[in-house]
Amino acid sequence: MRVGIGYDVHRFEAGRSLVLGGVVVPGADGLSGHSDADVLTHSLIDALFGAVAAGDIGDHFPDTDPELEGISSLELLSRTLRTVRAKGYDVVNADISLVLDAPKLGQLKVKMAETLAETLGVDSSLVSVKATTSEGLLSAEMADAAAAKAVVLLKRIGGRDPDGF
Ligand code: MG
Repeated sequence: MRVGIGYDVHRFEAGRSLVLGGVVVPGADGLSGHSDADVLTHSLIDALFGAVAAGDIGDHFPDTDPELEGISSLELLSRTLRTVRAKGYDVVNADISLVLDAPKLGQLKVKMAETLAETLGVDSSLVSVKATTSEGLLSAEMADAAAAKAVVLLKRIGGRDPDGF
């Protein structure tokens, strides 16, 4: 088994769509970024790369690459999964926490988890999306941003792990 952790933060930017876990959140400002700035999916991608010790999202998908401008982060997640599988691992489960003061996400969190699970090729019961507010305790700079932390567990495809687990 392998475990990985991911963290990301993006600033809000007027005039963009807010995309979280591949789901468009209506009526809210979006996040600033080279791709669709899906902070939730980015944290999951970093957790996946971390679990197989394959660098980070910036190594694989640099924000200087014009081909990646405006790209869906679900596409980046699919490419990341291909790397994980090429290294001989598959996803067991993932747990992601968002930190943002607004908007409230309600049942959209379930849709995000389902969307990510579908992209990862696992049952939706194996992906968790949670959200919390900062309760005004974040710095003034962070109050205008959204952050996400992800933890993912991988298993060796076909059973035995070369590390002996
Ligand atoms: Mg990011």
